[in-house]
Amino acid sequence: MPSEFELIRRYFAGPTPQAVLGPGDDCALLAPTAGCELAISTDMLVAGTHFLADTDPCQLGWKALAVNLSDLAAMGAVPRWALLACSLPDARPAWLESFSQGLHRCASRYGVDLVGGDTTRGPLNLCLTVLGEVPAGAALRRDRAVAGDDLWVSGQPGLAALGLAQLQGQVALSEVLSMRCLAALHQPLPRVELGLELRRRLLAHAAIDVSDGLLADLGHVLERSDVGAEVFAAQLPSLPVGVDPGLARACQLTGGDDYELVFSASPDKRYELAALAAELDLPLWRFGRIVAATADRLTLLDETGQALAINGKGFDHFG
Ligand code: ADP
Ligand code: MG
Repeated sequence: MPSEFELIRRYFAGPTPQAVLGPGDDCALLAPTAGCELAISTDMLVAGTHFLADTDPCQLGWKALAVNLSDLAAMGAVPRWALLACSLPDARPAWLESFSQGLHRCASRYGVDLVGGDTTRGPLNLCLTVLGEVPAGAALRRDRAVAGDDLWVSGQPGLAALGLAQLQGQVALSEVLSMRCLAALHQPLPRVELGLELRRRLLAHAAIDVSDGLLADLGHVLERSDVGAEVFAAQLPSLPVGVDPGLARACQLTGGDDYELVFSASPDKRYELAALAAELDLPLWRFGRIVAATADRLTLLDETGQALAINGKGFDHFG
């Protein structure tokens, strides 16, 4: 079994062209870009709580970093550096090889250098910290939504939750749909380019990434901005065929782990947003609007404009 230092050197200490000094010293040294603020976020993934212990290590390595990069995406920050603090039950070379490959793949896809971390023995636990940069004062924030804004969401929210439902034996999906859903669950693509362009082109007022579910995360924007919202369920992407529509709708509205972006934008940005969607080859759905704060903050409306009750995880008269 490799020593701790050998392990770090072999699996984690890759090239770090974006750092003054990478792994190997007491600290990494980073030189932030003049005029930028640092956007910093950290997330812990605990085996059995945030992922199944037998998850493919390569997918896990990807996802551990990807979910953190999603937070940078939501702020419109350029991803630059990451740190990995992990506790590992053992040092199986095959597992480490595969895990670090997934991690490094994600890092290189999004232009991030792994500049340091900590490695200890213990129950499997992964804590990623990411650092990005954003021009001072320009970050996309949760507290900037204003009444009259359109509400938008990227991609196909709900696929990851459907994938999880299949893994848990709650639903049987066609082979094609199953592959899409499992890819969404195991290899989420943080919407970094979308966040950057929303920020650079001044297209969004407020933004958040969807980690806990579309309505739940939208709720954080509403609270932080002290506004309300009307959500038009029929304007969300059509539900996958061959799946119970109640389950599919619940996954779309409340399923976690999608890492799409929800954002608010002035209605005069609709054309520019449609152009951006085409440019990025990423669908953007205008699914609601921001209104003045109301008692229950969020109204969910069906295709006829009738309010739908949101009760816990389900909805009345869907399906
Ligand atoms: P110290 O004891 O001074 O805190 P460590 O022995 O924990 O240093 O780590 C040695 C070096 O290896 C440090 O530069 C640290 O950032 C880096 N490192 C440790 N674990 C990881 C990891 N999992 N990924 C990347 N770098 C790591
Ligand atoms: Mg030290």
